[in-house]
Amino acid sequence: MNRKQSEHLYEEALKHIVGGVNSPSRSFKAVGGGAPVFMKRAQGAHFWDVDGNRYVDYLAAYGPIITGHAHPHVTKAIQEAAANGTLYGTPTELEIQLAAMLKDAIPSMDKVRFVNSGTEAVMTTIRVARAYTKRNKIIKFAGCYHGHSDLVLVAAGSGPSTLGIPDSAGIPASIAQEVITVPFNNAEALHEALKKWGDDVAAVMIEPIVGNFGMVMPKAGFLEDVCRLTRQYGALVIYDEVITAFRFHYGSTQTYAGLANHDLIKPDLTALGKIIGGGLPIGAYGGSKEIMEQVAPLGPAYQAGTMAGNPASISAGIACLEVLQGKGIYEEMERLTLKLTKGLAESASRYEVQLTINQIRGSFSTHFCDHPVTNYDESQDTDGEAFGAFFRAMLNRGVNLAPSKYEAWFLTTAHTEEDIDFTLEAADASFKEISTK
Ligand code: PMP
Repeated sequence: MNRKQSEHLYEEALKHIVGGVNSPSRSFKAVGGGAPVFMKRAQGAHFWDVDGNRYVDYLAAYGPIITGHAHPHVTKAIQEAAANGTLYGTPTELEIQLAAMLKDAIPSMDKVRFVNSGTEAVMTTIRVARAYTKRNKIIKFAGCYHGHSDLVLVAAGSGPSTLGIPDSAGIPASIAQEVITVPFNNAEALHEALKKWGDDVAAVMIEPIVGNFGMVMPKAGFLEDVCRLTRQYGALVIYDEVITAFRFHYGSTQTYAGLANHDLIKPDLTALGKIIGGGLPIGAYGGSKEIMEQVAPLGPAYQAGTMAGNPASISAGIACLEVLQGKGIYEEMERLTLKLTKGLAESASRYEVQLTINQIRGSFSTHFCDHPVTNYDESQDTDGEAFGAFFRAMLNRGVNLAPSKYEAWFLTTAHTEEDIDFTLEAADASFKEISTK
């Protein structure tokens, strides 16, 4: 496949944009380097690059594009909003409509506030939790990503429960010291951390279903334990549902049918983003009235935003959720996903490539290993080179995946049986190509 124009544009981009990309996850560093593909147009489940090559897309822009690219209902909403002015700096009726839709779908939220990204949403939930509890520390789980604000860009050191070390330059050790990292799916480690630091823990932050080291379900009882232990020590539970809300069903993890007792896994605060903006920039956070009343102008915790609640993002979000309310939408994504994962597993085993697939409804992750992946250590302990080779083999056959072994494949409402068949054919040839057997 010829990608000369992408290579040329990458050289140009390197002259003007740091690293040639506006988010590091877009670079091909983790899959062997070289020029990322410069896309020119996207429609439904497909991309066309600047050289005219077509790709079936499973990136979905890292999650938001669940209705496929340029969905007519979403596009129309954006066009109408733009024609009426893109930014007011005043309240609008649209904001009430989207807030009410979110509240209906996510029962733990009495009050909502819109921001511009998942990063902002998470960052503010931490501030609100600190204001409410008058404590400083937070506990997070190794491998969960919560955006790029200082506090959550902290990795685990070694050992089962550790005070954080900064994962990025520019984060003072004094800030990282306020973060404790424990392994996902390990309630004992959380309990140990709470025993040690519980008096000063404001919140336990979790991706209740993980989307950032593959798709990983909480083990039976784990979220119940997280909520129970956290409250036992007087801290708040924050669910980061930037990826997961509206991903598996019309709602959040709290009400996901695959998980048992909804009341026992109810968070105090929820951070949202991605899907709720229908492909335009957005974030939101919400929780009980009492906790949310910490936020200005009612309370002492300050949070603001020039672009927050802009009519274009809000309109796109409403339109996207309206599409997702359609009958059988999630079931159809799941049906196609199961066909795809079954075929991938068959091809991998045909060419003796070790592959673990974690599938949750319309999304899944592929791990090049022979063991289950239930936490970050197990996700790291996989063959990144094999993934990189597979990624490139797929790309050359017209299938666009995220360029990282940790990222998920996302189906959209636009994927068809034909796309799945095309992908499976590409995958069979790709597994054959990378097989060392
Ligand atoms: N939380 C989670 C769970 C995410 O996956 C992401 C982004 N991948 C974020 C927060 C940050 O969102 P944004 O990139 O919109 O700032």
